[in-house]
Amino acid sequence: MNTRSVALLTLALAAIIVPAMAADQRLNVIATTEDLASIAREVGGDRITVESIARGYQDPHFVEAKPSFILKLQKADLLIVVGRELEIGWLPPLILQSRNAKVQVGAEGYLDASQGVRILEIPTGQITRAMGDVHPQGNPHYWLDPENARAIAKSIADKFSQFRPGDRAYFEQRLTAFGTRLSEAEKKWLAQMAPYKGTKVVTYHRSFPNFADRFGLDIVGYVEPRPGIPPSPGHTLELIQEMKRQNIKLILVEPYFDLKTPESIARATDAAVLVMPPSVGGVKEAADFFSLFDYDVTLLVNALKAAAGK
Ligand SMILES: [Zn+2]
Repeated sequence: MNTRSVALLTLALAAIIVPAMAADQRLNVIATTEDLASIAREVGGDRITVESIARGYQDPHFVEAKPSFILKLQKADLLIVVGRELEIGWLPPLILQSRNAKVQVGAEGYLDASQGVRILEIPTGQITRAMGDVHPQGNPHYWLDPENARAIAKSIADKFSQFRPGDRAYFEQRLTAFGTRLSEAEKKWLAQMAPYKGTKVVTYHRSFPNFADRFGLDIVGYVEPRPGIPPSPGHTLELIQEMKRQNIKLILVEPYFDLKTPESIARATDAAVLVMPPSVGGVKEAADFFSLFDYDVTLLVNALKAAAGK
């Protein structure tokens, strides 16, 4: 081989190897939910790759642990979790079995996104999982408030910068852009919901307290007797009586719950059942954090308009 062909071969190899190396330099992020993955994508741009474990149409408390999740965790630089024990039923064994020191609880590559966000329904007194309550550390569905998304995005940006100090300015610029876009979107969502402030609703699980608090809904009851406990005939009867007494016409149900009980309650109370996704990926229209709120707010406004016209 002469010098020229060696040089050409080197160039050819470089053309193959260099993009592969560039791709490898991207931070490999795994998020437990599609909501966190979406926010990570907003902040991380093309400097990261991100995948989620749970799908948005699954109950995030009860995700089937698949071997493919362990493979994802094995290669991850960073794992972002919702925390507050949302994933306690399925994530700990996956982390352990990944044998990836980087993403073990407490390691540098383990980020609990609930740090710095506003958590509602924090139990007072002794914290217990009595009767299967899946919210022993307060309500873990906190991402359903755009203001909490700001804090989540900030934690993520700080963590990305910690791993890639050279890209700090890039992440900070994207964090600012996310915040600006969020402010504009939030203004629009608040205006859409404003006419319905104080509307009383019932939800299946306690997925929506942060959403209700931000957008002015009043949640007065739940189809579940306690978080994570299936409906019981006694509780259902009480709920029907309460809904009649308070004239409640809307039941919000997460896409992964059986509609049988909500529909029977709706028949008894002349209410409507609205299947409302609490997560990105819950329906195909909710493809990212912004379209999730676009979808939910529009869905609600249409249902509340229809209820008002009854
Ligand atoms: Zn929950």
